[in-house]
Amino acid sequence: MTIPVEGRVTKRRPGSAKGGLAVADSRPVFRNGRVHGLRCTVCRNPSAQRDLPWCPLCRGRLRADSFSPSGSMWASTRVDIPVGVRKPPFALGYIDLDDGPRVLAHLVVPESVPIDTRVTVTGVEHGDLVAQVLS
Ligand SMILES: [Zn+2]
Repeated sequence: MTIPVEGRVTKRRPGSAKGGLAVADSRPVFRNGRVHGLRCTVCRNPSAQRDLPWCPLCRGRLRADSFSPSGSMWASTRVDIPVGVRKPPFALGYIDLDDGPRVLAHLVVPESVPIDTRVTVTGVEHGDLVAQVLS
């Protein structure tokens, strides 16, 4: 179930639609061609999550940062079962952004791609990052 909240679509448990507690949406934000997240002011560790209280590595303070949309595929897979609004086949994978964190993205082409393939995040679909292979 998706509900527009503060200008963006987010996933929430059905209970929140009926007055229950909202669930934090930990998915990265893609805006103005950049992936937005946090970076530690002490150890420089990047994170695509936006609601961390402190750095998970050193407990240092975090500040907002944005990252290049390009990176290398860390792992990917093809999915052959329906999941939510997604109809099979579709593919998703983890991308190590060049100057940022590892993020999960759906792939434009519904096939897994080799490790270290160059990819770039191109947008958002159903609140999830979408990426395509760079030619
Ligand atoms: Zn840190």
